Amino acid sequence: MSIVVQKYGGSSVADAARMKQVADRVMRTRAEGHDVVVVVSAMGDTTDDLLGLAKQVSANPDRRELDMLLTAGERISMALLSMAIRELGGDAISFTGSQSGIITNDRHVDARIIEVRPYRVQDELARGKIVVIAGYQGVSYRREVTTLGRGGSDTTAVAMAAALGAEYCEICSDVDGVYTADPRVVPQATRIGTLSYEETQELAESGAKVLNAQAVEFAKEKGIAIYARATHSPLPGADPSADGTVVRRHPPRTPGTVVGVASERDVLVLDARADRSADGNRSAKAFALQDVLELLDEHHVAGKQLHVNDDRLTLVVSRENLHEEARVRAALDARFGPAARIRDTLGALSVVGAGINASFENVRRGSAALAASGMPVESIATSSFRITWMIDRTRLDDGVRLLHQTFIEAQRVLVP
Ligand code: ADP
Ligand code: ASP
Ligand code: MG
Repeated sequence: MSIVVQKYGGSSVADAARMKQVADRVMRTRAEGHDVVVVVSAMGDTTDDLLGLAKQVSANPDRRELDMLLTAGERISMALLSMAIRELGGDAISFTGSQSGIITNDRHVDARIIEVRPYRVQDELARGKIVVIAGYQGVSYRREVTTLGRGGSDTTAVAMAAALGAEYCEICSDVDGVYTADPRVVPQATRIGTLSYEETQELAESGAKVLNAQAVEFAKEKGIAIYARATHSPLPGADPSADGTVVRRHPPRTPGTVVGVASERDVLVLDARADRSADGNRSAKAFALQDVLELLDEHHVAGKQLHVNDDRLTLVVSRENLHEEARVRAALDARFGPAARIRDTLGALSVVGAGINASFENVRRGSAALAASGMPVESIATSSFRITWMIDRTRLDDGVRLLHQTFIEAQRVLVP
């Protein structure tokens, strides 16, 4: 029998009624003759609520204790879903991340999976069971419970699919696939039938929440096809790109075409100026910049878009997995004083597509559109798949609509 891994996000298991609908979908998959492994997220906003509780007792919650707390969310879901499946006559068994063999490094709060030893899962499948796994969690080689960073249940599902040699990995959510922009922000956004791993990864890293970036990276590495679908949609048919999004190795579409627009609101921008005291001497400068990065590493701060220019360093820090912001700010202040400044007013606005930077045409078009709409740009960064403009955070949604109009809706008129 072929193995199918399905992941259900928080909104899909938000209450008992929805949990029962998921159980029914699992049973229908089983009835099609598949071995089924289900990965579940915490119910609704449980993870946010738990984080809120932690903040009430500690401004800088200990990372290990946070993991002990946050893993409880998915544990509730796995047990309830297993019960709901059993109620429908299915033979289900639930496992935590640790029990299902998800081995991670020891970086609490955003651990990375280093190995999957799915023996217990395989044993239970061989006994004919439906296996329900708590997403977003694992166990470190030090036997400590860890979590995989926000949105990490997707990663659990893909990693499990790879370890089990599953046919595909279904990521079921409240939206029926990956859209050209967040459909909550851009009503004109349309579902994308097929996407390459690279495009999807860039979209996810640019803030498109629908798929987790690390999960896509994993899928790419292992060659696992991801089917992003709505929980309420039918089971995948002969062409799963007809009513969902299929992410797989995919020949690039017309090079230079923007496939999607994304934004990330919850970022900090760190500006640091190197110490020029040693009469501007280069090694003294390099050492001071190294100091900033070392401090960030000590506090497990993950940054992107690192830019070093002469004596200045700029770094964008995602707040998603930063739970000790107060401590990091205090440490930066104590060590560097006014030489290190954190700005809390900007957001990242990105367009994604293979080969979009082969010429400067797209950067010019986007920048011109933003300027014409009175949205000042703080900085621009590019990679081979992405252009990111840092703009005033309060204008981000307007920026997403504008760039969607400029790059995607205008294109539709040209290509009927
Ligand atoms: P889940 O709880 O199922 O993991 P998430 O909230 O993590 O779901 O992701 C789904 C949400 O992602 C959607 O409700 C949608 O608003 C948002 N989203 C952001 N960008 C996109 C996009 N490009 N395509 C589809 N959904 C997107
Ligand atoms: N419950 C976790 C979160 O909210 C993991 C997930 O949903 O994927 O981030
Ligand atoms: Mg998610």
